[in-house]
Amino acid sequence: MPRRNHAHAARGEGAERLIEGVVDLFVASPMATLDAAEAARALGVSPQAAAEALDILVRLGIATARLARGTQTYQFRIADEFLDILERLTRFYTDQLETVAILPERALLSSGEAVSDLPTVRALRARIASLETANTLLQRKNLELSFLYNASTLLASSIEPMTLAQAVLDAIGAATNMKARAYFVALVDQEMLTFQGGMNINKRSAEAFLTRHAALIDAAIEKGSLISIPRQGRIDRTPEPPFVVLPLRSGPDGRGHGCIAITDIAQEGLSSDDLRVLMQLAEMAGRSLDNAEIFTQSVSIGATDELTGAHNRRYLFRRLAEEITRSRQSGAPLSVFIFDIDHFKDVNDRFGHPEGDRMLKQVVATAMRTVRDIDLVARLGGEEFAVILPATNIADALAIAERVRLAVLGMRYETQTGITLKTAVSAGVATLDDARQTPAQLLAAADECLLEAKRAGRNRSIAAG
Ligand code: GH3
Ligand code: MG
Ligand code: MG
Repeated sequence: MPRRNHAHAARGEGAERLIEGVVDLFVASPMATLDAAEAARALGVSPQAAAEALDILVRLGIATARLARGTQTYQFRIADEFLDILERLTRFYTDQLETVAILPERALLSSGEAVSDLPTVRALRARIASLETANTLLQRKNLELSFLYNASTLLASSIEPMTLAQAVLDAIGAATNMKARAYFVALVDQEMLTFQGGMNINKRSAEAFLTRHAALIDAAIEKGSLISIPRQGRIDRTPEPPFVVLPLRSGPDGRGHGCIAITDIAQEGLSSDDLRVLMQLAEMAGRSLDNAEIFTQSVSIGATDELTGAHNRRYLFRRLAEEITRSRQSGAPLSVFIFDIDHFKDVNDRFGHPEGDRMLKQVVATAMRTVRDIDLVARLGGEEFAVILPATNIADALAIAERVRLAVLGMRYETQTGITLKTAVSAGVATLDDARQTPAQLLAAADECLLEAKRAGRNRSIAAG
């Protein structure tokens, strides 16, 4: 049989039991971090033995290690990797069974001393029994894990916080065998916990609940800890119906995104197993929310046109739609203009595409410097750009377009071979009015004027009448 390093490392008195003990500590509070000293105290072993067991769990991918303020701390790895971990754990125990139990037993049998060596046989039996117990435990967990696995795939694929909130709501009923009867999800939005959706509870009641328990809930989200009221063994004079609040947070390093609140629980209550599964669910959701945040940030990176540094077309349409809504609400005017470089094809034809690229960049930089801070320059395509001008009427918009045109006209562009070139742009200006109400209509109107400017001889700006 091939030697397995980790099995070898774990060999020693009670190593498996110690590992099981550490796993149990983690399972009891999956969000908590552990260090060797704490594990040693809880399990009644030496810190070295505890550290060795924790390191084995790290090597197996069951826990992660992190140095925090000079102390090595360990955390259970849960959620999407769980099934994989289960498999590795099972394999680990099987290896143990082979190397620790079967091999020595074979050796004993072949040496003919087996029957007489009763203590060894007894020790081996005890070991096998403990491994079997572990196996049963793992099988029981399997069901829980496959549920969590399904939930995690669903959650991991949800990018939008709203979709994610819905996925969480769907999972809670199943996770608790319908013992959770009313629950809702709230997410932090501009420092405020905001209702995202609920089951058997409406927005108003949910908000009342959030207000009533604000301090408690904030602390739970901040610390990433679970609240389950009433606490065991505590007798309240004014008994609040039992409730549970779970922080939506990926772990101690994650951000507190909000919470799941279960406000109505069936008579039989939620078991510690239920709470553990819910906690893992909340942690997975927290991780998905972390991802959603990273995604949103990367979308904003993806809003820039790589060549010119202007915003891209997709971002332009999104922002234009937003600005139109804002303008309708505030009554402030909104204008746009489109500009296009004149005879740009000639630059490419005469000096090559890379030279064209350089000139394009310089034209855009000039335009971006010339417009106001509140204006937004975006590349529509090719060497055609749109500028959004918030709170600007058509006359002012035309003036800004002209300023850009003159700035480009005044630009001295030098090719890489040292030739100075003149360039110009033409622009078409349009404003939001009864006839132009959507981003497409507004841009089409500006484009029409741009065409007119080109037809009229280029190097000019024309506004829609
Ligand atoms: P007009 O005055 O009518 O606008 O003439 P034009 O030559 O500029 O014609 P048009 O706007 O239709 O064509 C634009 C040309 O710009 C065609 C294309 O080869 C070139 N072009 C578009 N995008 C890029 C780019 O990213 N880099 C370079 N170097 N050229 C580009
Ligand atoms: Mg052009
Ligand atoms: Mg063009």
